[in-house]
Amino acid sequence: MSADVIVVGAGIIGSSIAYHLARAGASTLLVDRSAPAAAPGATWASAGGLRSQGRYGPERPISLAASIRWQTLSQELDANLEVALGGHLHVAESEAEFPIIEERVAADRSAGIAIESLKADELRKIVPGIAPSALMGAYTPGDGQAHPGRTARAFAAAAVRHGARAIYDSHALPLCEGGRVTGILTASGEKLSGGTVVLATGAWSIALLKDLGIDLPIRWRGLQMLLSEIAPAMLAPTVTAVGRNLSLKQSPSGQLMVGGRWFARPQAPEPHAEPIDAHVARQWSSAVGILPAMAHLRLAQSWAGAEAQSLDGSPFIGPSGLPGLYLATGFSNHGFQISPEIGRLVASDLLSGPEPLLKAFRPDRPLSAERAAAFKAETILL
Ligand SMILES: Cc1cc2nc3c(=O)[nH]c(=O)nc-3n(C[C@H](O)[C@H](O)[C@H](O)COP(=O)(O)OP(=O)(O)OC[C@H]3O[C@@H](n4cnc5c(N)ncnc54)[C@H](O)[C@@H]3O)c2cc1C
Repeated sequence: MSADVIVVGAGIIGSSIAYHLARAGASTLLVDRSAPAAAPGATWASAGGLRSQGRYGPERPISLAASIRWQTLSQELDANLEVALGGHLHVAESEAEFPIIEERVAADRSAGIAIESLKADELRKIVPGIAPSALMGAYTPGDGQAHPGRTARAFAAAAVRHGARAIYDSHALPLCEGGRVTGILTASGEKLSGGTVVLATGAWSIALLKDLGIDLPIRWRGLQMLLSEIAPAMLAPTVTAVGRNLSLKQSPSGQLMVGGRWFARPQAPEPHAEPIDAHVARQWSSAVGILPAMAHLRLAQSWAGAEAQSLDGSPFIGPSGLPGLYLATGFSNHGFQISPEIGRLVASDLLSGPEPLLKAFRPDRPLSAERAAAFKAETILL
């Protein structure tokens, strides 16, 4: 068996890439060690937030185009992706934080993102139960949430409808012959040749890259999520806050979902992580601090997933330096929202030549020390 492009990894990124390649007519093979969006990958664990505001500059046009795609993606993929566009609200809880909101609004507005600056009374029209500490906010009404697992499975199924082949429950090892990657070796020992192998293997990329002798500033981290019992409707947008590690949304089931870059404890065999009890308590109280009605709710579930993070918080997308191998990894806590456009851009990059919007994400880019420091500061370390 051979293919123009072999996509290794059927998380949200690999599934979207495979769909866009197959839709463009490329002979495509999608391989996953398990299944689309399987545990403990990032897509399986993801909070499913669709946030276009507050993005790093080069991601803004991609995120903006993605937010338009999300409006009709369920119809495009012929699947219920549980897309709910209830907005995203980023709040300041002190006057000292106001400039951060103002800068975000100005930068996003100049990039064409529909964003509003809300005063304290206006915030309360969007979230009546928000804590008195919320004084100002940046609001993007077109943002929202969707179901990551459903979306990855829908991309993978649509790829197959467009002629892609899929192999699940089989890991793939890139085959390196004569100084180039020529295909993959499957779990059953079969050699499959491919013109290009795309590594979309999330946290598993770290070990695979090491075996291939590719040195990238990338690591994996376990990130933990919490889910409350079912509650009455109380929250339309996703809420984040300048001074808190928090992302809070109400899922279609009525459960409140709490994320916000809280690290979980790594477990063997890597990549795998389990929630840390002390972090669960702080994560939950961070949510109660912004939505006091949650104090009456019980925690129903916690979990942790494994995510590949570049050291500057931006993904690595493009040729690896090893002929035949293309990378799409390191999506660093925010790959879900942009996934429809990442798939489209990578397919175009591979089939039609260098895609200008991906230039800032090339694996051989110099790392920005400023961004690396900011990314480190925004995460809760073990
Ligand atoms: C807790 C959490 C919350 C998040 N919340 C948000 C959010 O609200 N909004 C947002 O935009 N982003 C969010 N993200 C980020 C987003 O979910 C990720 O950026 C995205 O899911 C990354 O997808 P991926 O396909 O790169 O990786 P993964 O989903 O991890 O997929 C990698 C796939 O590769 C497969 N694989 C690995 N090795 C092999 C091999 N050798 N052979 C075959 N298959 C292999 C795995 O089985 C897996 O299916 C969150 C992430 C986490 C962890």
